[in-house]
Amino acid sequence: MLYRIRAHHGMCFFFFQGKGYSGEFTEHMRQMKRKLEQNPEILLLAETDDVCARCPHNRGGVCISAEKVERYDRQVLALCGLGCETRMRWEDFEALVDEHILTADRREEICGDCQWNELCAGRA
Ligand code: SF4
Repeated sequence: MLYRIRAHHGMCFFFFQGKGYSGEFTEHMRQMKRKLEQNPEILLLAETDDVCARCPHNRGGVCISAEKVERYDRQVLALCGLGCETRMRWEDFEALVDEHILTADRREEICGDCQWNELCAGRA
């Protein structure tokens, strides 16, 4: 199974603690997290993905905050030295996100203007 994952969701899953935009979305996040823990192959994107599929902010395949979240995606890809549509194992991607963004303390410069920022900052 190949999962479509937009790049900034590599950070969202790291900090996910059962909160989300709706009950259905949060349950979907939980299920996706479990699937990713099996270390499947992923296709990295800067557009709506398998997580966005159940999000109330997804309007016909486009996020209502598309400009902002695509900026997050592109920054994550750049800092990890990856290109859009890269295929790799989830754990390899997570390791790059951890090394180049989280451990390097660069998360807030990417998504410090996200509505969930305080929640993630509290776990940094
Ligand atoms: S549609 Fe937008 S707000 Fe919803 S999960 Fe995707 S990127 Fe996040």
